[in-house]
Amino acid sequence: MRQDEAWKRYAAAERGAVRKHGRGKIHVALAYPNRYSVGMANLGLHAVYGLLNRYDEVVCERVFLPENDELAVGRLTTLESGLRVAAVDMIAFSLSFESDYPHLLTLLTLAGIPLRAAERDARHPLVVAGGIACFLNPEPIAAFIDCFLIGEAEVILPEFLQVFQPGVERRTLLKAIARSVAGAYVPRFYAAHYAADGTLGAWAPIEDVPSRIVRPHVKDLSATTTCSTVLTPHTAFGGSFLVEVGRGCPHGCRFCSAGFVYRPPRFRSVASLAQTIEQGLARTDHIGLVGAAVSDLPGIGSLCRRFSGPDTTLSFSSLRADALGPELLDALSRSRVKTATIAPEAGSERLRRVINKGLREEDVLNAATDLVAQGIPNLKLYFMVGLPTETTADVEAVVTLVKHIKHAFLKSSRTRRAIGTLTVSISSFVPKPFTPFQWVAMASVGELKARIKRIQAGLKRVPNVRVHSDLPRWAYIQALLARGDRRVAELLLRVDAAAGNWAHALKTGPLNPDFYVLREREPDEILPWDFIDHRVSKTYLLREYRQALEGRPGHICRVESCRLCGACGEAAAAT
Ligand code: SF4
Repeated sequence: MRQDEAWKRYAAAERGAVRKHGRGKIHVALAYPNRYSVGMANLGLHAVYGLLNRYDEVVCERVFLPENDELAVGRLTTLESGLRVAAVDMIAFSLSFESDYPHLLTLLTLAGIPLRAAERDARHPLVVAGGIACFLNPEPIAAFIDCFLIGEAEVILPEFLQVFQPGVERRTLLKAIARSVAGAYVPRFYAAHYAADGTLGAWAPIEDVPSRIVRPHVKDLSATTTCSTVLTPHTAFGGSFLVEVGRGCPHGCRFCSAGFVYRPPRFRSVASLAQTIEQGLARTDHIGLVGAAVSDLPGIGSLCRRFSGPDTTLSFSSLRADALGPELLDALSRSRVKTATIAPEAGSERLRRVINKGLREEDVLNAATDLVAQGIPNLKLYFMVGLPTETTADVEAVVTLVKHIKHAFLKSSRTRRAIGTLTVSISSFVPKPFTPFQWVAMASVGELKARIKRIQAGLKRVPNVRVHSDLPRWAYIQALLARGDRRVAELLLRVDAAAGNWAHALKTGPLNPDFYVLREREPDEILPWDFIDHRVSKTYLLREYRQALEGRPGHICRVESCRLCGACGEAAAAT
């Protein structure tokens, strides 16, 4: 299918897309560096699209990775009106995953825009980027981006749009943005110096701009609404209306970056969510509740009671095994959900304490029994391998736990006379910035493969159990992109030149990827992302790391009274 035909097909099936007259306005191409079906499942993209189009003076249209490889350089256009991307005033990249970085270069190339920020001027669109991948560590793509917006869009975009002016000399414009927009990071105004051993020796501003980038955040989430802007059948969620219930998570799982960079954990009020759900129900009967900790929403039970019924399907992006109350179970059952997910993450109690998962085996078994008893026939179980301090016994404990779950699952299934499937999904642990595990070395690809193989072998002959795993090689690349510094940009250019052939780019380039992936960091090492201030202190992360190594669990956030990590309190909640 030709690209313009694909765009027409999608646009024809959309409900809620914005089409504005554009003369004299600021034209923004909101770019998601992946296919339409992936991008439109991302609630962050919907939120920014809705926010930008609320401004009379802004026309924001979307652009995705083309559906075929035949699009000529310079021919990339927006979905809504077929505007040439090179002709817009600003390209705003929404970056959730490091694995999309090569696609960012593809989109710039197809738009006919120089890849390096230093080669662009006022004739080119300003290239900005936001999203959690940038919040964690923007440095590997710093060479390609004029300005990162590190912070929550509801707070940062109004300030940014007050300063942004199309056509202004690039350096002057960027200086104004860097100096007056909280959370704006303009890489060209900072320099990195490397020590003889290859570590970061110094990182500092070279112009009169802030020396730290403090992430702004929304204090009262109920004052904002984050929900689907456009409904489309062409995504994994079909025509679901997605509603964000909260940001952050109070549980502090030590591997989870979202649990730390969205602190303090915040939830919308049930009243404001009910209003948004009513709006969604006017458009569709399928509501998806989204958040890192949906089952922790105060009042989730009453929300489920109110909205789950024969005509409405409620689905949940995340549910903890120890939080499946009767209302939630009833909502799942009424919504005719066929598969529920439980994420023990590790097989042994010991390792679950190390990662601060806070789940006991009996929580997991009870959840499996209750879900099946409610008529949900299939279960999906998430585990990770390569976690810090993991031993062979911990890996074998995954097999044992799955067998125990299978036993509970079968017992409950037999009562209902329907036996479904247990799907075990294994992913490789990637140490991420701004978590207590940011200092650890990742397990090697060979070790990860061996651990996955051990689980596969242990469950091979267990009926009704399927095992899926990710590819450790890709997890390795994800770690490289997540933990790299500015020198990683050269590798991305090589990958781009080699049409996505990572093996070739790694073999022929000077960069030693193991240095970034397999090396344990010293506690006093300057990390490439240290200049970002997420209000969670490094001392706190280090203390959590040491407690993890001792097998001691952490705690659950109690936002009203706690000052432990630094994210709560008056000084921190300044916005
Ligand atoms: S200060 Fe305490 S409650 Fe607030 S985010 Fe940090 S650990 Fe959680």
